[in-house]
Amino acid sequence: MRFKSILAAAFALTGCATLPPMAITMPQRTVASTIAVPGMVSAADPRAAEAGASILRQGGSAADAAIATMLALTVVEPQSSGIGGGSYLVFRDAKGVIETYDSREVAPHAATGSWFLGPDGKPRAFEDVVPGGTSVGVPGNMRMAARASHDHGRLEWKALFQPAIALARDGYVVTPRLHGALAEERSTAGFSAGGRALFYGADGQPLGVGTRVFNPALAAFLTELADRGPDAFYVGPNANGIVAAVRGASHNPSPMDAGDLASYSAKKRAPVCGSYRGYSLCGMGPSSSGGVAVIQTLAMLERFDLRALGPRSPVAWHLITESMRLAYADRDKYLADPDFVSVPVAGLLDPAYLAERSKLISPTTTNAIVVAGNPAGAPKTALGVEAVEHGTSSFAAADTMGNVASITSTIESGFGSGLMVNGYYLNNELTDFSFAPSVDGVAVANRVEGGKRPRSSMSPMIVTGPDGRVRLAVGAAGGPTIPAQVLKAIIGVIDWQLSAQEAIAQPVIFAPSGPTVYVEGDTPLEAMIPALTALGHRDIKVRPHGTFKANAIEWVAGSDGRGRWAGGADPRSEGVAVSQ
Ligand code: GLU
Repeated sequence: MRFKSILAAAFALTGCATLPPMAITMPQRTVASTIAVPGMVSAADPRAAEAGASILRQGGSAADAAIATMLALTVVEPQSSGIGGGSYLVFRDAKGVIETYDSREVAPHAATGSWFLGPDGKPRAFEDVVPGGTSVGVPGNMRMAARASHDHGRLEWKALFQPAIALARDGYVVTPRLHGALAEERSTAGFSAGGRALFYGADGQPLGVGTRVFNPALAAFLTELADRGPDAFYVGPNANGIVAAVRGASHNPSPMDAGDLASYSAKKRAPVCGSYRGYSLCGMGPSSSGGVAVIQTLAMLERFDLRALGPRSPVAWHLITESMRLAYADRDKYLADPDFVSVPVAGLLDPAYLAERSKLISPTTTNAIVVAGNPAGAPKTALGVEAVEHGTSSFAAADTMGNVASITSTIESGFGSGLMVNGYYLNNELTDFSFAPSVDGVAVANRVEGGKRPRSSMSPMIVTGPDGRVRLAVGAAGGPTIPAQVLKAIIGVIDWQLSAQEAIAQPVIFAPSGPTVYVEGDTPLEAMIPALTALGHRDIKVRPHGTFKANAIEWVAGSDGRGRWAGGADPRSEGVAVSQ
């Protein structure tokens, strides 16, 4: 399943602290498990969710479970995420302190603004630059895992790898979703000899549903990572293997070198937070655009009574659409890697600014044109052009100690760049940059630069209730539709009083800043097209479902005052939530 859209885009950001590469030695820990309220893991694949839950049963923290889930997804959901890519982790500890980790991939230091331009100086076609080396950014997930384990782990580092090692060594069966992806994404899944050997038969056909896949190379490398720590990824044979793969790619070779790998660091950034109807929302700041977009959209909607309108009201969805368009217009212009451009995050989230922007929303008419606002601190940047596909997984974990993790991990397109090293796919995350470095002489914020992170839409969020307790941890996959899926789930829970499961199941409406509104087909939204048209929407397109994939965990208060964790997994996906 894949969705592709061309969006106008360029971006912005805020302060952060760089974390140095981790030392190899990982902490040894012994944990006594006492279960008051069982924890929970929700993920896009049952085997990955179970991997995380098994870590909770051993007394692991939500961070431990999230890391184990990320590793297991590398094995069983190779089309979407893994150690060959990056992620954002939003972590809330039992005291309510929220930390965010940016392990987004970075461009090689040799990269320049002409990275994705053809000989004619024009942006190359998206499909042509995905396979091969040029699209590959230095993967961030293992540095993130090491830092999160160091900061918030309870189990030994080694323990986190065991479920993924077992899956790779003992085999796992091909699901309908993986089979479909192998059939549809052959240009990446089957790009390298390793991918062809692993996932296609001698007849060249993708492995059938139910076929057992063994990935001994990945089992061996995960064992090495478990033994030696993250440096086994960034220095030595694996790093050299990545460099050889991207430099020697038969299509789009890249000048990435060993120094690019060795110098990678995960970054701890200030979370972006806002409020909505008495709830506190915290998510990932730039280099992601997701947290800002979700918070902005909800803040501009707050003056409308969405609860009274309800999920079957076209006016409710119209309001969501109009607010989203305004947020995406800001996103497209201002959001990018904050280490390279000045992103006016405070201005974008300023309540006074958002109140002014909200005045542009009418319950009875549609804005013909939506443009970015002028928040405090806005730099002069041009709109860029972004092309996005999907290959991502979001998952959440809560432990019995009261810690919660919301994480979105990705290799960007299905099977990333198609290059395979040690049994895992390398990402094509650099295609999230604007291919054009400038427009009419004005620099695009999200242009390619050496050492820079491409802007993301990933939006792992944690929502805290008025009582100070976590209410919801949620995230999604689906490129630029991610903020739309996440904010819809939050509206479902807060305004429409739905369970996380019901909220995720609600239809998706996606409205980037232009006039086009995408509604999910075969849902009540499709039946609302005449009403939305009457409200002034002139370009409504129906999108099939299958490309959306959200996961969540929610806290459900009990009548006895104790409460419990409940999970939500997207019915459009193979995801599940598994209790401790
Ligand atoms: N690479 C995309 C991003 O970071 C996510 C890809 C997807 O989910 O489809 O925004």
